[in-house]
Amino acid sequence: MSQQQRYTPIRKEEFEDHLTTINKKLNNLTADHINIEIHEVTDPTGTKERVYEINIPRKHTSIRILSTIEGSISRPNGEDSIKTLLWHTKANRVISGKRFTKRLPLWESNLEEKVINLFQNYKHHIEKICPDCNGIPVKQEVGPFKEYYYCPDCGFQEDC
Ligand SMILES: [Zn+2]
Repeated sequence: MSQQQRYTPIRKEEFEDHLTTINKKLNNLTADHINIEIHEVTDPTGTKERVYEINIPRKHTSIRILSTIEGSISRPNGEDSIKTLLWHTKANRVISGKRFTKRLPLWESNLEEKVINLFQNYKHHIEKICPDCNGIPVKQEVGPFKEYYYCPDCGFQEDC
């Protein structure tokens, strides 16, 4: 099916409409007292693409969606793809859970599936829980080949 490989440009309104749909589904899946919202945020890495965030029911943790949309339309490179990440909101760093949704004609259902799956199973994407405070350590680089875990909540450190 050559159609499967066709690059689909996505307009901002179209993308945000679909996020609204995903948001409704997340709220239907979640307990009544939790209000799930998807909102646009400024990305700390200075990327020009629009970044959206969903807060999840764990301290300092969210899902970020890197949309590939700059201004009002997605970037022209067809190899580029939408990313969904598990994010540490205090450290402003990725935790894990990097997924890719190619901007093909089925991008809506692909993105929806990945966001809902990450929302429901985010615990499986957390490699390490802080033994001191139950927070989520993030990886910090020390030179090109060495990393260590650092807990932004209490300062705990451990070699990876
Ligand atoms: Zn800690």
